[in-house]
Amino acid sequence: MHKLEKRILLPQDLKPLNNIQEYKAQGGLKGLEKARSMKPQDVINEVKKSGLRGRGGAGFPTAIKWQTVADDPAAKKFVVCNMAEGEPGTYKDRYLISKNPYLVLEGMLIVAYAIDAQRAILGTKSKFKKTVERLQNALKEFEDEGVIQPGYLEIVLGPDEYLLGEEKALLEVIDGRPPMPRLFPPFMMGVGIGPTERNPAVVNNAESMSHLPNIFTKGADWFRSLGSEDTPGTIMISLSGDVKTPGMFEVEAGKITVRQMLFDLGGGPRGKDAFKAVFSGVANRVLTPDQFDLKMDFGTMRTAGVGVGSAGFMVYDESRSMVNLAWLFSKFLAKSSCGQCVPCNSGTRNITEILEKMLNGEAREDDIDEIMSITGRCTSQTRCFLPQQEANLISSIIQKFPQEFKDCIKQSCGWAEDLIIPKLADFDETARQFVYETHPIEFADV
Ligand code: SF4
Repeated sequence: MHKLEKRILLPQDLKPLNNIQEYKAQGGLKGLEKARSMKPQDVINEVKKSGLRGRGGAGFPTAIKWQTVADDPAAKKFVVCNMAEGEPGTYKDRYLISKNPYLVLEGMLIVAYAIDAQRAILGTKSKFKKTVERLQNALKEFEDEGVIQPGYLEIVLGPDEYLLGEEKALLEVIDGRPPMPRLFPPFMMGVGIGPTERNPAVVNNAESMSHLPNIFTKGADWFRSLGSEDTPGTIMISLSGDVKTPGMFEVEAGKITVRQMLFDLGGGPRGKDAFKAVFSGVANRVLTPDQFDLKMDFGTMRTAGVGVGSAGFMVYDESRSMVNLAWLFSKFLAKSSCGQCVPCNSGTRNITEILEKMLNGEAREDDIDEIMSITGRCTSQTRCFLPQQEANLISSIIQKFPQEFKDCIKQSCGWAEDLIIPKLADFDETARQFVYETHPIEFADV
């Protein structure tokens, strides 16, 4: 293990836990036992004290979500674990489950106790076959051991769509509909909603929930002693792209810089070219070498105008065309838009089309201004953040690499068909390489 790594979620030796007895032998289920010995409000207070922030992307304080739902007078409340993991460059939740499927289930039961939930549901994708099997087996063991009543915790499988990870869309899938974000947030409209039932839900990411058993076994002060004041605890990093040693790393939040991640954990550039751009998924602004000394926690990165996201970092070197990459990201988001909100649907599509014109050598001088103008317009009156993602991401690439876009107008920079947005399907630990899904965007379909 590299000295920058700190494993509190992952097993120290990275050996997968294979049955509940092994989990119990390592202190498993003690956190749930402790939480259940406390009053529900004290459980929420302990999580408040721990400073746990959501690891799904936004870094929202976990306990605030819980308190809102706990205080709601609704008769039925639900716990939902978001394990859709659709963000390009991210593999952390599936990696965690491959090592230990019990932590997240135990964590879900701690939330369920704290808010007095009717039921708990884990939402993931049916195509994550290995992960689903691990979870189903672990769930059966929980039921057989009497940790929960059969049927109390359910695994719901959804389609392979980016929007499944949007919490309001995930709730639609749980309710048997396609992943199209609804208007109201989960704390207002949760699971099994109807004319007379709001059934508010707490929706937390799988990594966030996996932290809970340790917080209750070892205490909020122990958790706060790790990471930074802003982001206590560890974060799981997925590092892919033009680095020598891509991989999965658990590190203390705020204790390492982007540079340390790239050079110490990632081994530096893979080829002869220096690093040019780093993207934390497709929701945040591009990170460039002038920002590599930023500490990696939610507050520091956000203050600098970038973001940790779900800590899936995609790295590109100097040989990569940023116009091509902007097109790939824009196309990905345009294809992911569900079309319910006109500014999002047309805005993402229009930006993609202009970038295509550039790559075909057909763009006009004012097309760069036109893209910037659309990014300013496509974000209003929409149900989810997808168009904000498009606006942040694409405008930041143009602002950081203006000359590349100007040059591409004078003379097409051509199609870089070897460039990809890495959608991660697996991590081969022996070869230390990610296995990519089929290319998410086919150049052929332009
Ligand atoms: Fe769908 Fe876009 Fe509206 Fe989100 S903002 S609900 S992706 S159309």
